[in-house]
Amino acid sequence: MTTERVYMDYNATTPIRPVAREAVLAALDTLGNPSSVHREGRTARAIVEDAREKIAALVHCMPSDVVFTSGATEANNWVLSASWQTIFLPEIEHDSNLAPARRSPARVIELPAVQTGQADVTEVANVVLSGQSVGSAVLVLQAANNETGVVQPVAEAADFCREHDIAVHCDAVQAAGRIDLGFSQLGVDTLSLSSHKIGGPMGVGALIVRDADRAKPMIVGGGQERRQRAGTENVSGIAGFGAAAEAALRDLAQVGRLEALRTRLEQQIQATTPQAVIVGADAKRLANTSCVALPGTSAEILLIKLDLAGISVSSGAACSSGKVGASHVLSAMGLAPEVARGAIRISLGWNTSERDVDAVLSAWRDVVGDRQKAVA
Ligand code: PMP
Repeated sequence: MTTERVYMDYNATTPIRPVAREAVLAALDTLGNPSSVHREGRTARAIVEDAREKIAALVHCMPSDVVFTSGATEANNWVLSASWQTIFLPEIEHDSNLAPARRSPARVIELPAVQTGQADVTEVANVVLSGQSVGSAVLVLQAANNETGVVQPVAEAADFCREHDIAVHCDAVQAAGRIDLGFSQLGVDTLSLSSHKIGGPMGVGALIVRDADRAKPMIVGGGQERRQRAGTENVSGIAGFGAAAEAALRDLAQVGRLEALRTRLEQQIQATTPQAVIVGADAKRLANTSCVALPGTSAEILLIKLDLAGISVSSGAACSSGKVGASHVLSAMGLAPEVARGAIRISLGWNTSERDVDAVLSAWRDVVGDRQKAVA
């Protein structure tokens, strides 16, 4: 058993990158409110604007399209707080889209998933082409799924939606820094990002929005962020987010390295436990994400055993009111409950090494391989 911890839960949050940490600390030591006109204010403003440019570079948009928020949850809530008449909502979306959509007064049309893990967006066309009026409508569509890594057909769906005057909101939290994302190329109206998934600090994110009419302010007060999001900016958080975005953009060149690590991980897991199912393997996936299901086992118990062996991964299962059920994503994909309940997510990132993969494989053999046949 290893005593060193191996962190493989990058889709939950990532270790902070050294450059982001430095940027946070430097900004904490910088006095000034970015809205003040004096020198200190201008210094703080420069930090915020520098970060805005770096985030714009990551998703190929204009700096003026970037509005800082407290994270992607706020960005998603913001978009869905508008007075939509219809929201097309894939069942595999993150809770920070599902919850605000489901409590809104809009007509919510839930979209199932196909077995490969993509949202079935054909339902949007079915509804529109059947002649039903959808009024002011938005399609929510994540760039990639947080549990399976499956990349979603955003550009294709956005093409159709544009022709039918349906807005598209893309949650790009998991895809940012993992695939090359272009705001204009995707053709979406709004896009949400989160700092702590790309090696920046928690509690800061952004909504990318070009046409301000597509996201009327949700938080009002002062005139910050061009009157789109009130509240004194989280200058140190934003500084760290910017530094992380710059590093994440550079690291896109490393995607092949991560993919090779993930391939070795999955191949060895399947060699040890041939019954293991790699969820979403038939679709295009993020290179860092592996959702592995061991049919008939309990993901929670597996997770705890791996944790005791020094490995941090997560389970695809959702736990609410003390009741553990299969994840809504895996259920929407039609996975049998006994498969879905045995699914864990292993997610790699900028600091994952060959040794980390070796440690996970060794723990896997100890916990579920021949040396210990059953996981209760
Ligand atoms: N969307 C997705 C797909 C996510 O994975 C997460 C984080 N788990 C969020 C939104 C929420 O982001 P934040 O933590 O910045 O609120």
